[in-house]
Amino acid sequence: MRKHRIAVIPGDGIGLEVIEAGKKVLEELAEKSGEIQFDFKDFDWSSKRYLEQGHYIPEGGLDELKTFDAIYFGAVGSQEVPDHVSLWDLRLAICQGFDQYANVRPARVLPGVTSRLQGADKIDWVIVRENSEGEYSGNGGRVHQGLPDEIGTEVSIFSRKGVERIHRFAFELAMTRPRKKLLLVTKSNAQRHGMVLWDQIFFEVARDFPEVEIQRELVDAVTTRMVLKPETMDVIVATNLHADIISDLAAALSGSLGIAPTANLNPERTFPSMFEPIHGSAFDIAGQGIANPIGAFWTAVMMLEHLGEETSARRLMDAIEAVTRSELHARDLGGAATTAEITDAVCQHIDEQMRAKTATG
Ligand code: NAD
Ligand code: MN
Repeated sequence: MRKHRIAVIPGDGIGLEVIEAGKKVLEELAEKSGEIQFDFKDFDWSSKRYLEQGHYIPEGGLDELKTFDAIYFGAVGSQEVPDHVSLWDLRLAICQGFDQYANVRPARVLPGVTSRLQGADKIDWVIVRENSEGEYSGNGGRVHQGLPDEIGTEVSIFSRKGVERIHRFAFELAMTRPRKKLLLVTKSNAQRHGMVLWDQIFFEVARDFPEVEIQRELVDAVTTRMVLKPETMDVIVATNLHADIISDLAAALSGSLGIAPTANLNPERTFPSMFEPIHGSAFDIAGQGIANPIGAFWTAVMMLEHLGEETSARRLMDAIEAVTRSELHARDLGGAATTAEITDAVCQHIDEQMRAKTATG
C-alpha cells in the first residue's frame, strides 16, 4: 500500500465544491483499487479567514505545507477582498515560496464535449507557463497617486536562470510527446529587453535537443494561430503573463474553463508541487452545486502522475472521459448535471473498471 500525504486548500466559492468532489473520486480510486491511500489534510486558507483574521496563510503555514507530497488547491477570490490581495497572499505566496516555476496546462477536447471552434478535435496542446518571474515577479513598480499626472509602473524581471530552466523544462516535456514540437511565444518586437533574453536562451537550449522541432511566434499572432491552425501546435512555452492569457483561450477553445487543469511544479522536488483547476471561485454560480468538477478531476489526474501513480491516473482519466462521452454535462457545457451527479458518475465508472479488472483476473 502506497501512502500519499496531500494538503488540501479548497479556498473560496466553487473551489470548496469542486475540491470536495475531487477528494471523493480520489477516495473511490484508493478504496476500490486497494493499492494506494491518501492522507488528506484540509487547510481553511480562504478569503473568509482573511476577513476574520487578516491573513490567508497563518504564521508557520508554509513550513507545515512543506512536509506534504502534493497540494490540491481549489480557487481563491472573493467580492470582499481585492483580487490582487487574494492572489498574492495565497496562491502566489505558495507558488513563489515553493519555487513552483513550471506551470503546465494541457488542453484537449474531451470526448462528448463540443467546442465552438471548428476543427477543435485537433487541439492537443500543453502550455508551459513560466511561473516564478517575468511580469508577475512582484518586484518593484508602484502607483504614484496624488500628482497632477498619476502614473503606475510595473517591473518585469527575466533572469538567465529563470528563463533557461523553463526552456529546458519545456524541451524535456516536448521530448515525451509523439510530435516533439515546441513553440516559443514572446513579444520581442515590442518588449525589447526581457524577451530578447527569452529568444536567445531558447536557441541555446535548443542545441541540446536536436530531435525537437522548434517554432517561434509572437503572442498576438499566436492567438489567431490557435483559432485558425490548432493542429500546428504541440508544446508551447511562454512567459507568466502571455501564457496566462493564451491558456484561458486554450481552455475556452477546448470546451470550457470548467474542465481545464493545471500543475504548478517544482521539478526538482525540493518542495511540494501544487495542482489546481484553472478556473476561479466563480461568484455567479457558487453555492448552487452546479460547478463543473471535471477541471478538478483532471487536476487530480495530473497530481497522480506527479506522485508516480500512473495506473491510477489512467483509470481516473478513463472514468472522466467515459462520463464526458456519455454527455452528462454541467451547465457550462450546455448540460444540466449537478456537481454531485457528475461526481457519482465518475465514481461509478471507477467502480465498474475495478470490477471488470477483478473479473478478468
Ligand atoms: P472564474 O473562473 O471564477 O469564472 C469565469 C466564468 O466561468 C464564470 O461565469 C463562471 O461561472 C464560469 N466557470 C468557471 N469555472 C466553472 C466551473 N467549474 N463550472 C462551471 N462554470 C465555471 O473567473 P472570474 O469570474 O474572472 O473570477 C472570479 C474570482 O476568482 C476572482 O476573485 C478571481 O480573482 C478569482 N480567480 C482565481 C483563480 C485561482 O484561484 N487560480 C483563477 C481565476 C480567477
Ligand atoms: Mn489566469
